[in-house]
Amino acid sequence: MATRLEIQKRAYFKKQTVIRKREKEGFLKLSEEEIDLQISKTENEIAASPVSIATAHQTVDRLRDEYRRKISTAQSELDALSAKAAPARDAWHVAHENRGFVARNFTGDSDESARLWKALKDIEEQIRKKKDEVHEKPAPRPKEIQEILLLENTLNSLKRLKSRKLATREKDDRRQKELVDLKATAAAAIGKTRKFADAIRSQIEKSDICPYCGCSLNAADCHLDHIYPVSKGGQSRPANVVFVCSTCNIRKKDMTLNLFIDTFNLDRHIITTRLRLLGNDY
Ligand SMILES: [Zn+2]
Repeated sequence: MATRLEIQKRAYFKKQTVIRKREKEGFLKLSEEEIDLQISKTENEIAASPVSIATAHQTVDRLRDEYRRKISTAQSELDALSAKAAPARDAWHVAHENRGFVARNFTGDSDESARLWKALKDIEEQIRKKKDEVHEKPAPRPKEIQEILLLENTLNSLKRLKSRKLATREKDDRRQKELVDLKATAAAAIGKTRKFADAIRSQIEKSDICPYCGCSLNAADCHLDHIYPVSKGGQSRPANVVFVCSTCNIRKKDMTLNLFIDTFNLDRHIITTRLRLLGNDY
């Protein structure tokens, strides 16, 4: 059976998921300007609130501590009462069994078992009430506290979203710049036929890893390699050129692909598969 803490945790994560989902659906559509607007609107609402965020948190902490103390006191009281129940029952049993004997001997004390029975029932009743106290739920938070915490939550979500948007934009800008640089590199390297230029462009779009070593390619570290070297009669035609990392380009120099693979003990199958996918001869 799930403990109370587990249930609370589950509820918490469920709530978080709902919040994230809401952020995604609603907030992601917002532009950066709209997010800024929402942020300043929320900040104004927070400033205008009768309760500050700090006070709200203090209140929430205080209410939680009070509630915990109350429950723990009730629990100790319940434990103390429970400890009394067994002896009270035993005492009543003894009196109950003695009742006939006492009555027969005219001691006038035959009400003893009734008195102990009542005492036992009193304890049991108190235990029942105490159990209710132990399981009492915390009182709902005051409305103005709830409202400012909601505003704080919204503000945090908006700020998270803003930084995510910024990061995405920076990444896009970087990628865009890399692509422009790559195209400039290609244009400088070729400047030959239209067909060749088109082929190079499609190479750029297709290659994000070096086909020789598999490292990821970027504009700063990207060379155009003639698979069959120019010095051995290799031509600058689309199927004979490929973008590779500078390390591979420098190591290969004017080697043929075969010699390069043998010299550096590379994986022939992987390399030829990559070249085939890029539309190259090898
Ligand atoms: Zn490489």
